[in-house]
Amino acid sequence: MSEILVVVDHADGAVRTTTAELLTCARRLGEPSAVFFGAAADLTPGQLAEYGARKAYVLEDAAYRDCLVAPKAEALAQLVADRRPAAVLIPSTPEGKEVAARLAIKTDSGLVTDASDVVRGDDGAVHTTQSVFGGAFTTTASITKGTPIVTLKPNSLTTEGADPAVPIEAETVRVAVSDTARAARIIRREPRGDIGRPDLADASIVVSGGRGTGGDFDAVEAFADCLGAAVGASRAAVDAGWYPHAFQVGQTGVTVSPQLYVASGISGAIQHIAGMRSSKIVVAVNKDAEAPIFGLADFGVIGDLRPVLVQATTEIDNRRA
Ligand code: FAD
Repeated sequence: MSEILVVVDHADGAVRTTTAELLTCARRLGEPSAVFFGAAADLTPGQLAEYGARKAYVLEDAAYRDCLVAPKAEALAQLVADRRPAAVLIPSTPEGKEVAARLAIKTDSGLVTDASDVVRGDDGAVHTTQSVFGGAFTTTASITKGTPIVTLKPNSLTTEGADPAVPIEAETVRVAVSDTARAARIIRREPRGDIGRPDLADASIVVSGGRGTGGDFDAVEAFADCLGAAVGASRAAVDAGWYPHAFQVGQTGVTVSPQLYVASGISGAIQHIAGMRSSKIVVAVNKDAEAPIFGLADFGVIGDLRPVLVQATTEIDNRRA
């Protein structure tokens, strides 16, 4: 069966959900092999095997950690030349997309970024689905040049474990990283600080605030904390400087797919919906009964978000007490 390279998205070995999504996709195309940039000691083979990886290529050079993306692109190009995989799947993170673009140039291959699905077509080519213009249209493409490279948007599809999960074979791969690739080095990393909330992209509950908050996110944060949720924001709230861009949900922000999404003081612009439309249950709190978000919401509360969220928080806290 043809080999599919899957770049593992991880933080010090803790594999992110995106990797499970990529492996689920890769199994439709062929036999997935994970590409792990990091120390072999940090690799948790069981997590990769669970989603169908048959092999893990471990690339340990310090350049992958200490430099910008060039060493990773070089290493992947070398792996592509050596293993001749049928496709390469990469997470659609800012870094992943830059690595993918460089890899496409180096290998003279076709690339699709921000795909929401990947399948093998009847013609044998890799076919991708993308949501464009804020989710207003869905396009399909087939990659016919070189080794198809695809970046997959996080939270785009449901992960499926491999049955049975076969123990994984890890192989340390050494690639000569050029001096040019080592030239751009990372000199400092600023930790984001532990905000004590789940990661927005992976959270099972997200409470978001928009322009309707008027810049006061206290009620949104308190409600999120009582549910153990992540906090998100609309672009209007981010552009106003009320919340950091890292928490923006939407077309130009993070795509979320939680079990429960609470949109408070958010009108429901198409670009916002593009980042949360696959949420399982949507609750909207808005004082305008005509707000478009109510067209998508499963439950709606028409009213001022502050008293609504404060009352909901108090009610939940009281029931827990
Ligand atoms: P508004 O549209 O102004 O809505 C505010 C809502 O709050 C209104 O419905 C109002 O009735 C309600 N409200 C006001 N006061 C209260 C109150 N006290 N209680 C309850 N409700 C109240 N937007 C994103 O969010 N994410 C993106 O990634 C994104 N990308 C974009 C990319 C492009 C290329 C473009 C052109 C736009 C993008 N936008 C994005 C912007 C998007 O078009 C909207 O402008 C934005 O989503 C509006 O944010 P909002 O709903 O908070 O504000």
